[in-house]
Amino acid sequence: MAGTIETDICVIGGGSGGLTVAAGASQMGARTVLIEKGKMGGDCLNYGCVPSKALLAAGHAAHAIRGSGSFGISAGEPKVDFRGVHNHVQGVIAAIAPNDSVERFTGLGVTVLQAAARFTGPGEVEADGTRVRAKYFVVATGSSAGVPPIPGLDTVPYLINETVFDLTEGPEHLIVIGGGPIGCELAQAHRRLGAKVTVLEMFSILGKDDPEVTEVVKRRLRREGIGLREGLKVKSIAPDGAGVAVEIEQDGVAERITGSHLLVAAGRSANVDGLNLEAAGVTYSKKGIEVDARLRSSNKRVYAIGDVAGSYQFTHIANYHAGIVIRNVLFWLPAKVDYRAVPWVTYTDPEIAHVGQTEAQATQALGGDIRVLRFALHENDRAQAERETDGLIKVVTDKRGRVLGASIAAARAGELLLPWVVAVGQRQKIGTLASLIAPYPTLSEISKRVAGSYYIPSLFSEKTRKVVRFLMKF
Ligand SMILES: Cc1cc2nc3c(=O)[nH]c(=O)nc-3n(C[C@H](O)[C@H](O)[C@H](O)COP(=O)(O)OP(=O)(O)OC[C@H]3O[C@@H](n4cnc5c(N)ncnc54)[C@H](O)[C@@H]3O)c2cc1C
Repeated sequence: MAGTIETDICVIGGGSGGLTVAAGASQMGARTVLIEKGKMGGDCLNYGCVPSKALLAAGHAAHAIRGSGSFGISAGEPKVDFRGVHNHVQGVIAAIAPNDSVERFTGLGVTVLQAAARFTGPGEVEADGTRVRAKYFVVATGSSAGVPPIPGLDTVPYLINETVFDLTEGPEHLIVIGGGPIGCELAQAHRRLGAKVTVLEMFSILGKDDPEVTEVVKRRLRREGIGLREGLKVKSIAPDGAGVAVEIEQDGVAERITGSHLLVAAGRSANVDGLNLEAAGVTYSKKGIEVDARLRSSNKRVYAIGDVAGSYQFTHIANYHAGIVIRNVLFWLPAKVDYRAVPWVTYTDPEIAHVGQTEAQATQALGGDIRVLRFALHENDRAQAERETDGLIKVVTDKRGRVLGASIAAARAGELLLPWVVAVGQRQKIGTLASLIAPYPTLSEISKRVAGSYYIPSLFSEKTRKVVRFLMKF
């Protein structure tokens, strides 16, 4: 489609953030153009959240068979057909893909251009010969796997998130560079599907979360046979037969680790290359496009959302950003981002779910004026019934009981987090959760129990006992 299109909104990137803006804007009556150079649905659908959770689900199924003996059911070692696993993962993507398809968006009234977009001026982009002039632009180009400058990495074939889900044969020994959420999720999935797995991390495994909570997951990963190596430097990489050899240095000691496959999951780089942002007067850095609290770039007609905007790199944040942009652009409301209650989940088993401040962050912000509450999963009856007793919930409040943050390590911790997102976001006091009636027996009782523990020191104090003894005299 050559020529020039005049439109209200031009969205660049058809992933989580861009699709949400395009669908909303078009349905609210704005003329909308969406430009996507690759697969509709972006990273989340094709190379991120969806395939990784589908692969984890396959690993979970294999693990459940292995663990069935403790329920009195014997099934033996599961037979993993990796091509079947691949088909399952691709089948899940295919089932969701129609929601994100060109056909659906065209049906919603969006003009979809399937090409790479680049700015040609402050109010114009070009995509495969078509010029698009718009009142507003929304850059939602996402991020890509960051490739660290390790000597020799370019001499071996390595996997990243865009290629790892194409494997139709299980790796024999997968070496993962990067012990963040993506590295750990893929490590556990492959381990449970039969691979030997080694994770190499320069700092700490899952280092963005509370160490008490990550310790639960690290213990489990080790118990399942994953080699977790932290605090090391990857010095070089070289081919080793059909596989790879990774030279590491840890505590001054050099070591060579060989594996059949290498996965690089060492951070993400914002997709700014090729956009010719200079032509639009849009300032950016290595972290991404610089935006203000309303997500406007240095060119006030150009907004940036999602991973390319350089804040939290999650699908739910890209969607949240989309809502902020829609309010600003379509309704001229000065909506601003508020990151106080950003939740995130690492989908290992057990999962880690977090919102708000960690103990360390709250201590730094408020000195000693905080309360830290904990409740262990093994005290929960449902967790006992399901033999899922690894983990804890940890909650941080200020000295008046206002909830500042919560971290959970538990099976399905992500499903348990929402009340804490509300509590942190609405600045609720812990009593709101303590006074709820939680259905029995559910894992969500841990939220009520941890909240209730706030009152234990005063409830069971000598002062209370004296009052009760006095009242019982009448
Ligand atoms: C393995 C993995 C697992 C993940 N799991 C989770 C999870 O469980 N939960 C979660 O919340 N997040 C998860 N994420 C992160 C999540 O995928 C991203 O935060 C989310 O996709 C960001 O959305 P976005 O709209 O910013 O970018 P994307 O969804 O990546 O979309 C960007 C789109 O822009 C297109 N594009 C780029 N440049 C151009 C151009 N010049 N012209 C036209 N189009 C262009 C790209 O082709 C792409 O389709 C995961 C990521 C990975 C890699």
